[in-house]
Amino acid sequence: MSTANPWVIVGQVSFGKGVFARKPIPKGTDIGQVLGKIIDDPDYASPYCIDLGNSMSLEPRAPFRFLNHRCEPNCALHSHDVVYEDGSPAPSEIRLESLTDIPEGAELTIDYQWSAEGAIKCLCGSDQCRGWVVAIEDLPKLLKSQKPKRPRPTSAKSPSAKSNSTASTSRASNSGGAAAKESKSATATARKPASSLEKPKRKSPKPR
Ligand SMILES: [Zn+2]
Repeated sequence: MSTANPWVIVGQVSFGKGVFARKPIPKGTDIGQVLGKIIDDPDYASPYCIDLGNSMSLEPRAPFRFLNHRCEPNCALHSHDVVYEDGSPAPSEIRLESLTDIPEGAELTIDYQWSAEGAIKCLCGSDQCRGWVVAIEDLPKLLKSQKPKRPRPTSAKSPSAKSNSTASTSRASNSGGAAAKESKSATATARKPASSLEKPKRKSPKPR
């Protein structure tokens, strides 16, 4: 029963559960293996499952099941190749590693890197928020598929920068959720993933 991880505890966030640092976690720490059920089904998808490639998915157990997304995460999942004793490939081992120093009590987050098809609006609030829970490489595709929406130039600080004030921008409201920030020019700030290490993707739940 003692599956407790020495680094983390599960706690509450406003919309559910999250994973928090039990004590300060230095950058580059191998926090632990993401354990769970391995499912061999190319169509399998769930909000939590992690794509292992080769039609395999991992449905993680606590605590790492409750890792939340942030566009500027402080952790990342890494996949490690595993082979059976006879040398044939086994499902990869997924481990969580810290990308920054994480103070005690802070929430641990990862970048879900969902595909454009399953993307939902992101309210993570980070400076680098892409506006969507979506993989960086899928962002252009996602934005293309959206109704043409123009970022409003309102964020310009200079009061003289006023322009076509009549242009309606209300068409952008897309779903019930109030997107906290949508005028960020997402394409311009697309940056490289925080590390170029091989990263398993979380699978987006398939809209059916
Ligand atoms: Zn975000």
